[in-house]
Amino acid sequence: MPTAVNLDGRLLPPAEARLPVQDRAVLMGDSVYEVLRTYGRRPFELDLHLARLWRSAALSGLEPPWNGERCAAEVLRTLAASLGGDLPDAEAAPWNSSERSLRVLMTRGGGEAAPEVAPAAVVIAEPLHGPPLRAYREGVKVVLVEASRRRADPAAKTGSRLSHVLAQRAARAAGAHEALFAEADGTVTEGTSSNLFAVRAGQLLTPPLEAGILEGVTRGVVLRLALAAGVPLEERPLAASDLASADELFLTSTSREILPVTGLGDARVGVGRPGPITLALHAAFRRLAEASV
Ligand code: PLP
Repeated sequence: MPTAVNLDGRLLPPAEARLPVQDRAVLMGDSVYEVLRTYGRRPFELDLHLARLWRSAALSGLEPPWNGERCAAEVLRTLAASLGGDLPDAEAAPWNSSERSLRVLMTRGGGEAAPEVAPAAVVIAEPLHGPPLRAYREGVKVVLVEASRRRADPAAKTGSRLSHVLAQRAARAAGAHEALFAEADGTVTEGTSSNLFAVRAGQLLTPPLEAGILEGVTRGVVLRLALAAGVPLEERPLAASDLASADELFLTSTSREILPVTGLGDARVGVGRPGPITLALHAAFRRLAEASV
């Protein structure tokens, strides 16, 4: 079965895996989570994702119901239960076929209002739906949205994502793939579920963690690949005008890897095609992912 759900260590049919309505995750998104993926049906950078989950929990004052070892074991058990039964998808990028997206969720439970509701731990393994191959060949469009109603702590991956959901809906309504958060100070920090990179005059630029972004696992891999390839690199705030004058833009995330951006609102990015540094970094990323199998 291509989707498997694990609730507090029990593998259940997805429709039967339910949280109590008094869990604060249901009432107010009071939870933390992680999303990782597989290559060759094996988790990629599992340790980095679990380390970030524990950081998100600490930043949110939330005690994970499982320890790290148990969590890793439950992820693998849920993944194993999800294998097989994939439907062919002619548009999928080949590296995503039959792979899994793995979501790990930890809730706060009922808190003081309902102490009898214990914190829950959930793992969901389901088919990975990354961008179609066409998006890598042609690039995608992004739009800027005001970041004024973002979540409180950008460094934590928390369940309170309504501002991200609304920004993503605005992007879809504008025919765009992703929304980038434009901050009040004129900088652009990241996407609703992706980190942002620009290339100008051969130099790779990306906002620093202090700009108030999630420390993307893919972002970290890309920084390492750029260093290894000798691509000049600077972590510095990006102004909206930097994006408009960039030669290349790309997004990074677990499900996207490195995705070229060729449209910024109604304007073209660079020459309107995926650029050479984006393509070279994505080729290096692909080699790394294949070597991890
Ligand atoms: N930024 C935000 C706000 C995200 O939600 C995500 C992933 O969901 C990312 C960046 C990319 O992180 P990663 O590369 O670890 O998937």
